[in-house]
Amino acid sequence: MHKRLFIPGPVDVLSECLEKMATPMIGHRTKDASALQKSISEKLQKLMYTNNTILLSTSSGSGLMEGAIRSCTKKRAAVFSVGSFGDRWYEMALSNDIPADKFESPEGEKTSPEMVREALKTGKYDVVTVTHNETSSGIVNPCAEIGEVIAEFPGVLYLVDAVSSLGGDKIEVDKWGIDVCITSTQKCLGLPPGLSLCSVSNKAIEAARGKENRGFYLDLVRLYDQVKKNDQYPSTPSLSHMFALDYQLERIVEEEGIENRFARHKKMADKVRAWAEKHFSLFAADDCRSNTVTCINNTQGKDVSDLNKKLGERGFSISNGYGKFKDITFRIATMADTLEDTLDELLDAIDEIWELEA
Ligand SMILES: *Cc1c(COP(=O)(O)O)cnc(C)c1O
Repeated sequence: MHKRLFIPGPVDVLSECLEKMATPMIGHRTKDASALQKSISEKLQKLMYTNNTILLSTSSGSGLMEGAIRSCTKKRAAVFSVGSFGDRWYEMALSNDIPADKFESPEGEKTSPEMVREALKTGKYDVVTVTHNETSSGIVNPCAEIGEVIAEFPGVLYLVDAVSSLGGDKIEVDKWGIDVCITSTQKCLGLPPGLSLCSVSNKAIEAARGKENRGFYLDLVRLYDQVKKNDQYPSTPSLSHMFALDYQLERIVEEEGIENRFARHKKMADKVRAWAEKHFSLFAADDCRSNTVTCINNTQGKDVSDLNKKLGERGFSISNGYGKFKDITFRIATMADTLEDTLDELLDAIDEIWELEA
């Protein structure tokens, strides 16, 4: 039986999107391939509120995260972390021989604009990385306010991991001053895993040109130059994903409407939060709660893996905690094309299995 996924990626994919993956192949050096890339870029620019160039990479979200920090950091990266995906960026820096320092917030709290200002005042950094939506802890960071701080330091690039929020929550790339904004297909965009996407500013590309050893496959400059030349990619991209992405972006931008999509995500997250606060408590402080994934403190010491087994029999799946929060939290994601009615069914099923008061 197919389980409806309330895990933070991969998410359920609409059958018509899956069908688009089966579109007959075209050559990746054809006019049709260029048109496909252009069509995707124009719609992604709307979804990201940006005029910056859009790049795709056939890799999961981590691909362009690694490409971005490696391509852009000449001096030293200030990595701000509120959980496992923030930590990942730090590990990427170290394993690419990129000087970096990690700044962690107290448990359950956001990256504050003040922390960023304090770090940048040292003059040690040319890159800041922030996780917009930390999937392990259900924390959303104040990326607009952080962007204002970074703008006070002209040479500094602002890299944002929006893998688990882009397409589900509003991210105004240009207004917030984000130089590289990264996402991937298998979260709020509602497609199978396999493509990483980002917007990139001219400032980031110009800085990267002066950096040696940017790598090859994930070098942002190489990707950028080929896109600028003929709307194609240096290597063969997953055209199947691109067909599905083009279709799905059309649905998001033209059919559902971007604002409606964000509102639907928020409404579902509000519902999960209300349910969680009635029976448990929320991991994230009340000024930084994600609208795409809710991390719940398992204050009743319930058996989450047993719950998931029983939910599985009813055709649902939720997630346990991540990393060091594995056993003390559990997570319910409400991403992509999940509908409120299905969420209601899930919460009713959990109430029944755990015998919670409805
Ligand atoms: C899922 C995710 C990633 C990247 O994961 P991939 O498996 O490489 O796509 C990065 N950051 C966040 C916040 C995520 O949720």
